[in-house]
Amino acid sequence: MADSQLQQAPAAQKAPEAQTGRVENFDAIVIGAGVSGLYQLYRLRQLGLSVRCLEDASGVGGTWYWNRYPGCRFDSESETYGYTFSKELQQEWDWKEHYSGQPENERYLNYVADKFDLKKDIQFNSHVTSAVYDERANRWEVLLENGQRMRAQFLVAAVGILSARYISPFEGIDSFKGESYHTSRWPKEKVDFTGKRVAVIGTGATAVQLIPIIAKEVDHLTVFQRTPNYCAPLRNSLVDEETQRRFKATYPEIHKKCLETPAGFPYDFDRRKALEVPREERLALYEELWSQPGFKKWLGNFRDIMTDRAANEDFAEFVRNKIRARVKDPVVAEKLVPKDHPFGSKRIPLETQYYEAYNRDNVLLVDVRETPIERITPRGIKTSDKEYEFDVIIYATGFDAITGALTRIDIRGEGGQSLKDKWANGPRTYLGLQTAGFPNLFIATNTAFCNYTICAEMIVEWITDCIRYIREKDYSRIAPTAQAEDAWVAHANEVGSHTLLSGAKSWFVGANIPGKAHAILLYANTAPAYRAKCAEVAAKGYEGFLLQ
Ligand SMILES: Cc1cc2nc3c(=O)[nH]c(=O)nc-3n(C[C@H](O)[C@H](O)[C@H](O)COP(=O)(O)OP(=O)(O)OC[C@H]3O[C@@H](n4cnc5c(N)ncnc54)[C@H](O)[C@@H]3O)c2cc1C
Repeated sequence: MADSQLQQAPAAQKAPEAQTGRVENFDAIVIGAGVSGLYQLYRLRQLGLSVRCLEDASGVGGTWYWNRYPGCRFDSESETYGYTFSKELQQEWDWKEHYSGQPENERYLNYVADKFDLKKDIQFNSHVTSAVYDERANRWEVLLENGQRMRAQFLVAAVGILSARYISPFEGIDSFKGESYHTSRWPKEKVDFTGKRVAVIGTGATAVQLIPIIAKEVDHLTVFQRTPNYCAPLRNSLVDEETQRRFKATYPEIHKKCLETPAGFPYDFDRRKALEVPREERLALYEELWSQPGFKKWLGNFRDIMTDRAANEDFAEFVRNKIRARVKDPVVAEKLVPKDHPFGSKRIPLETQYYEAYNRDNVLLVDVRETPIERITPRGIKTSDKEYEFDVIIYATGFDAITGALTRIDIRGEGGQSLKDKWANGPRTYLGLQTAGFPNLFIATNTAFCNYTICAEMIVEWITDCIRYIREKDYSRIAPTAQAEDAWVAHANEVGSHTLLSGAKSWFVGANIPGKAHAILLYANTAPAYRAKCAEVAAKGYEGFLLQ
């Protein structure tokens, strides 16, 4: 491959500690320096623990470090995504846009890391390859790619839900002579598309942000689509001074509202059932929702939109017609209209001028369900129909979501049991926070169906309180009982089966990865119910956990 963006980093240099065989000891090791890992580091340090945070990247930010592709930004309202744990931080930071872009988000997380002096405990360029539990010593031994080893009583995996990038194993992928990029490993330097023939593979949320921007820069763009999505207008705008003042004056109210709503956003479902509302009134609400920014069309819609197939279909058809109205060529429009899955059963991409990109003369849509990609060639992409020539191929092929970042680390618990093997048929946890047989391993990723930081803060605080409890009560280890875990897995599957989330081949159920077990990977209950359950378990002395 001509370009290094798709290749793994070259074998890391041996660290001095690895050469001397020295093993550093900490109370806790946190893997990942994104939204969750940074806050976890801060909290555990406050508790008086010695902590080392290990991060693959060369800087902080996680999602907002890696995803530098043009157009990358929040789909959450900026003022709801920032941390809430520090009032001072909230007052100091100005969000410039209602849906803030990656450069600003990365600046924000650097600001947080600097303000709380976190970087001194973060070791960057440090890829964790394995973590093995030493039962006799009650210590986790972590091994880095560079050979460095360190040990800690507590291991917190803040490795992210969308951080293990995925590229379909196309034949001939290394033979391409042009430039190749994966959107989640985008270079720090600007990529110049001027005069170039560019391919984008994938049409998920990332591609939907990227395509309208680069369409204006390239000579020609070809988009390879497998599944069309229900994309909805983002309607981003700048935050004016008065709104900025309002955010700062009302952060407690904004947060309270987000804590009360089912998915942690500042809007709730309409309490009525869609089909009980007269058609005209229903359409008026759809139009009203459509005219508003953000996810409100999804998460402020009628309350049965995610549970009742007929209600969902009613709104889905409304969206299909919105798409048809924006794409000039009716044949192209029909290719862009989703028909095989319910609205919201795949992550809804929010867009700015996405559909209009297909009205441009220099943009071509290829439906790979009609003409599948057969291989990547030295000159471009060969489908069952023809070979297309490109200067640049962009893989917007997403992630091995939710579980991928964890199962790619060789994690061994009691009796040498491998986490990857244990989760072969889908993740098995109690509350999403721990897994039986892996004492003192905490999973600090937000797997609730929830605006990320709103629930991530709660998860980090739960883990911190749990570790405090262990130390105060003179315990040394905690892990869920097998019974509690079985009951939780059954409950999570049951809750998921009542929603339409399993109705599409999406990353929510692992369907984007060949061979990955079909399982609902997000906890589909409401976020308040999830938080209440976690709080109740803690209040009952960590009911369902074995403390020793
Ligand atoms: C493009 C994009 C847009 C998104 N937009 C939104 C949004 O608008 N709203 C929302 O709520 N959520 C959004 N998300 C979800 C997003 O992932 C979360 O909001 C949040 O940033 C996750 O934070 P995190 O700290 O849990 O994980 P991450 O930010 O993914 O950080 C995990 C870190 O762990 C590191 N890591 C993983 N494995 C290892 C290892 N083996 N060794 C060392 N380090 C490792 C990674 O390098 C990474 O830096 C988006 C995701 C993407 C990809």
